[in-house]
Amino acid sequence: MKDAPSTAAVCFAILLGAGVLACAPGDPDQAAGIAPGASETLGFTGARLIDGTGAEPIDNAVLVVRDGRVVAAGQAGVVEVPADARRVDVSGRTIIPGIINAHGHVGQARGLEQGPEYHTRENILDQLALYARYGVTTVVSLGEPGYEGVAVRDAQRENAALDHARLFVAGVVMDPDTPAEAEPQVRERAERGVDWAKIRVDDSLGRAEKMPPATYAAVIEHSHARSLPLTAHMVHLDDAKELVRAGADVLGHSVRDAPVDDELIALMRERNVCLHPTLTRELSTFVYAERPAFFEDPFFLRDADAEVIRELERPERQREYRGDAAEYYRAALPTAQRNMVALHQAGVRVAFGTDSGPPARFQGYFEHVEMEMMQEAGMTPRDILLSATRVAAACMGLDEVGTLEPGRWADFVVLERDPLENIRHTRTIESVWIAGNRVPGAADR
Ligand SMILES: [Zn+2]
Repeated sequence: MKDAPSTAAVCFAILLGAGVLACAPGDPDQAAGIAPGASETLGFTGARLIDGTGAEPIDNAVLVVRDGRVVAAGQAGVVEVPADARRVDVSGRTIIPGIINAHGHVGQARGLEQGPEYHTRENILDQLALYARYGVTTVVSLGEPGYEGVAVRDAQRENAALDHARLFVAGVVMDPDTPAEAEPQVRERAERGVDWAKIRVDDSLGRAEKMPPATYAAVIEHSHARSLPLTAHMVHLDDAKELVRAGADVLGHSVRDAPVDDELIALMRERNVCLHPTLTRELSTFVYAERPAFFEDPFFLRDADAEVIRELERPERQREYRGDAAEYYRAALPTAQRNMVALHQAGVRVAFGTDSGPPARFQGYFEHVEMEMMQEAGMTPRDILLSATRVAAACMGLDEVGTLEPGRWADFVVLERDPLENIRHTRTIESVWIAGNRVPGAADR
């Protein structure tokens, strides 16, 4: 456990984050004005607590937060609210750790447009605020058109005033043509300060050259030499096996061409490789061929852009979702769902990931659709919640989030209804808290 940040450290973090605010350590009024909640002790009382560890839920729990981190969590009576704490009564509600999207994308698109011009700090921060309003408190962005995310990530370190989703980044996806091109590409990203390496092994349904095994083996080797874990986007069972043999740490997306077999299961278990299901990625390739039912969903509409909806309703636009690729992925989706469940039941770790962020893959909302699709596929609400909290954190090497244990960041969601009954209850958001700060605009408006 790290030491809680001092007031001076908090102020320093705020300076880094906002770049304009002054802060006088030792002046409580001024500090409180700059970072509401940051130096305050909070005691949340009366809720059912699902702490993300997999332990049984605790009824009538107390959750104590100080300097943005969990200080104590447990049964009332066993854990006391400190005398100096501000009490927050959340009786009758359920607290879960903030949702972790282990595979998203930020600063890649705005509405239905995408390109490097959308890779700005402002757009990234808007998108992290959007994720947060939907209860997604950490996002690992696995491929962006630039490196703006690195500074955003650095500003969140020890920042007890944070109120948008935490970000970790891969930077630009690597695409060497030869093994010799691997090392310079890895070096550039490592020097930029990314958290993850990312490659694609995909022939885009026969329209592109697939990265050869010798090339991705070189990328994986050089990434590991620089302590960068690697996620590999893949589609086919054979590629999945070869990537795991070559040392990939996470398989991005489900296997979609064939049922997973004992060989892949054994390889993934032996090497402790995780899977990002990204079922909503498939959904997004065909669902706009007709007007999707969720265009009527108030939970979607509360943060949706009316212009984007209108555009997706245009017949010309709908036709774009009826091509060969759409039909391929529509047919592949049930295979992807069955494979996710088969891997999960065989003991392979499924790290919640959606691939949201590109056009029409709606950040925040799609995370809830993804959980519902996981439930439809046969995962229990308990296992889906674990996948989206502790497991996602462990798979992505994030040791300060994922559970509500002492020392971790106080990133959590207060729900009106218990998601262990039905995962759709993750939509009943009463409030979202990041580093103990209430996320603006998260509750139903
Ligand atoms: Zn992706």
